[in-house]
Amino acid sequence: MNFEENISKSVDRKILLNPGPGTTSSRVKEALIVSDICPREQAFGDVMHQISEGLLEIGNGLGSHEVALFVASGTGAMEACLVSAIGKSDKALILTNGAYGIRMTQICDRFGLPYEKLFSFGDYPEPSEVENVLSSGSYTHLAMIHHETSTGMMNPMEEISGICKKHGIKLIVDAMSSFGAYPIDLKKTPIDYLFSSSNKCVQGMAGLSFVIFSKDRLEELKANSGGYYFDVYSQWNNLQVKNQLRFTPPVQICYAFLEAIRETLEEGLNVRWNRYQSNWQLFYDGLKDLGFSFFLPEEHESKILLAIKLDSKPDLDFNDFHDFLFERGVTIYPGVIPECQTFRVAVIGDLYQEDIKYAVSLMKDYFSAEK
Ligand SMILES: *Cc1c(COP(=O)(O)O)cnc(C)c1O
Repeated sequence: MNFEENISKSVDRKILLNPGPGTTSSRVKEALIVSDICPREQAFGDVMHQISEGLLEIGNGLGSHEVALFVASGTGAMEACLVSAIGKSDKALILTNGAYGIRMTQICDRFGLPYEKLFSFGDYPEPSEVENVLSSGSYTHLAMIHHETSTGMMNPMEEISGICKKHGIKLIVDAMSSFGAYPIDLKKTPIDYLFSSSNKCVQGMAGLSFVIFSKDRLEELKANSGGYYFDVYSQWNNLQVKNQLRFTPPVQICYAFLEAIRETLEEGLNVRWNRYQSNWQLFYDGLKDLGFSFFLPEEHESKILLAIKLDSKPDLDFNDFHDFLFERGVTIYPGVIPECQTFRVAVIGDLYQEDIKYAVSLMKDYFSAEK
């Protein structure tokens, strides 16, 4: 029996519908089991370079962009990017139409980085409104979430990128829960800075996050360096010059991440994106059949995550519903939207139609048993 058979036999496969860390393939789990190696060896430096190149390949940024890797959850890359990209004499416009947009303002507050915010929780960020505000202010940067994971909204990144380019504004994109699934093309969509993590749509394990930046921004990054550990330029430069990360990486997680990157490239962005969208559609239809309604209008849905309103089921005890599903191998996730009770299901991870059908059938069992 090979490793992979061993792993799939010895580890129960779970269906994680929380918005990352998602269900990983046995191929990625298997990649965790490697010989011990000192991360300052040449062979391990090569792995870090392969990870960087693979990420650029996923985003079609080879030649135009570079990567800085961090040992941190996604918020670490968010902090690194903001403190390294925005200087004290700059001014950012931050789109705050959900919890993650708001998190960017909290980081700027903490570091004294000048910004103004636009939009409220759940708003659709109309590109024309963004353009009006940008042309009336003295902004240097615009920071936005691509897929706002708190509501499931796909923000219009391509349109806003075009507007930023037209006005000479540098664009910062949090693609945490879209990169690896939604085909982002850095050659077609000008993005100065983009960050994401190992454990969402790239389908690796948690522990690494990264900032992809345009080569045109290198000088500014070098001059800014707002953090000590979370310094994009130093983190990138150390790997180039010394073939090592500055500080200790989680060796096994890095091997698993490289495998997840290869798996992403082999599946192909378009195939993965179609898989996510059709998985999402099964939830949308199944939950609608059960009488649920949704937080967003359908045209704004990312089709990666669905925020489901609980007011359509006033008698539902979410924790009991969660536990029923959890005991049967399926994990759902509470919502975070103020003034609207919701729960969330995400299709992030190595999930297929049969998994979603199984999850929906369990939900049906739960409600028919209740009556
Ligand atoms: C998950 C996520 C983050 C980062 O969360 P961590 O818990 O730090 O990994 C940031 N932005 C968005 C849009 C996310 O979905």
